[in-house]
Amino acid sequence: MSERIFIAVAWPYANSPLHLGQIAGAYLPPDIFARYHRTKGNEVLMVSGSDQHGTPITIKGEQEGKKPEQIATEYHRQFLDSWQKLGISFDLFTTTGTANHAEVAQHIFLTLLDKGYIYKATVSQPFCSQCQRFLPDRYVEGTCPHCDFIGARGDQCDNCGKPLNAAELIAPRCRICSTPPQFKDSEHFFLRLSNFRDQLLAWVRQQTHWRQNVLNFTISYLEGGLKDRAITRDIAWGVPIPLLGFEGKCLYVWFEAVIGYFSASKEWAKATGDEERWRSFWQSEAKSYYFIGKDNILFHTIVWPAMLMGYGNLNLPYDVPANEYLTIEGRKLSSSRNWAVWLPDYLSRYEPDPLRYLLSINMPETGDTDFSWHEFVRRNNDELVATYGNLVHRVLTFVYRSFDGCVPTPGEFDSHSQALIDKAKDTLKMMDELLYRCHFKEAIKAAMALAQETNRYLEEKSPWKIIKHDKQASATALYVAILVLCCLRTALYPFLPFSSQRLHEFLGFKGNIEDGGWQPHFPSPGQRLLPPEPLFSKLDEGLVEEETKRLGLPAS
Ligand SMILES: [Zn+2]
Ligand SMILES: [Zn+2]
Repeated sequence: MSERIFIAVAWPYANSPLHLGQIAGAYLPPDIFARYHRTKGNEVLMVSGSDQHGTPITIKGEQEGKKPEQIATEYHRQFLDSWQKLGISFDLFTTTGTANHAEVAQHIFLTLLDKGYIYKATVSQPFCSQCQRFLPDRYVEGTCPHCDFIGARGDQCDNCGKPLNAAELIAPRCRICSTPPQFKDSEHFFLRLSNFRDQLLAWVRQQTHWRQNVLNFTISYLEGGLKDRAITRDIAWGVPIPLLGFEGKCLYVWFEAVIGYFSASKEWAKATGDEERWRSFWQSEAKSYYFIGKDNILFHTIVWPAMLMGYGNLNLPYDVPANEYLTIEGRKLSSSRNWAVWLPDYLSRYEPDPLRYLLSINMPETGDTDFSWHEFVRRNNDELVATYGNLVHRVLTFVYRSFDGCVPTPGEFDSHSQALIDKAKDTLKMMDELLYRCHFKEAIKAAMALAQETNRYLEEKSPWKIIKHDKQASATALYVAILVLCCLRTALYPFLPFSSQRLHEFLGFKGNIEDGGWQPHFPSPGQRLLPPEPLFSKLDEGLVEEETKRLGLPAS
């Protein structure tokens, strides 16, 4: 019975290149998940896009003397290029700058207003007398009242993750000119979040399949009470408030960006030629997964579900598998201090699969994990190359040479061979259960354990030695090894799509791995192999020093 799986992926701000923290946190996991479900034969829709609005973009524009749309377009192109090179297989990666998105966001705003879930109020907003402008969100900085962090912003504290409003900041100052702001009245709209607290709490308490960190954070936040939140801003760059008398004001970027999951689904449906197709993921039996970093939990387990409850007749999130953080060489990642590994840099120098491997086997699923270049080289050389790559290469080159380039015909399986075949089948089954529950790290470890086991099997059987006096026994051992490779090709495909597809072809299969389903395949004796080549290359230890030196340097 096939399932419908909607995969919603965090919208990156189009104001800087992507870094490995974002990839490990929010972009690689959904891609693994999507490839796995597609292979199982499930109907998958994976969408996201670049977030073009909000103060992160306008501030960057002002710093570089560019228009916000110019900044957004440049980074959007770069994101698309990165997804293609890293193999992140979105069904649609759009932007919040489309007419479709503005229309959908405005429609949701007006519907919630109409239903009484949004109301108007006059609020006092920080205003810089020097710059002669209001200072929304990131335009005002100060000290966090919760954790005393000095660089907290008018929308959120990056240190403790708590949402803030400018009036709560201690010693606020204008981000542009450092003048302490005055407070002036401005008319804004508020989402009546307080109205949804009990309904949210009842709903969240039923989500026992959520990750502990996500569940605990959400429940304790709700138990602390829910305040209504302003969802409009004094800023001209964004989706305009669709009402007369509010010129120069826009929907708050967070209110409008989460709507992107829905508007992107509509855009995707239009592109398929069936405008109503979004309904099968939003109004029928479907599971919606939201892949995000832990700093965005609140918006996906509280704000967006409240908006959906208010709007009505759309599926609520089924799961929000938020990841923890990736540190870099033992230190907290910091874009501003350039203590980060930038994805376009990585992709300009190295292959995608070794990074996907490291970030999968070291994924910050339940706690922070660390990326180091030393670990990158070690895992590539000792695990990808030595354990898995060499297994594939040894078996395929020997079979190719000794059996006329074809899968050999096995004799009877002894108990050791049968045990390995069973383990291969069990591994696929176990990984199926793990991947279904978004346990990515354990799943890839299971696949690597199978590769290790197969190396031990071949050591004992030594098909390369016995071929001289017992060609049948050698053929059987190699056939069993090829059978395992067929399983590993499928098992590792969600994690390592590029090398898995090459292995698929070396094994003599055509088409896409996904077409074969999530199941073991017994290769046909006589099947023609393609001339094998190594799947991975060893990396030079010297790159560790070279790459580590780049960290923390002023960005070029
Ligand atoms: Zn704080
Ligand atoms: Zn100012």
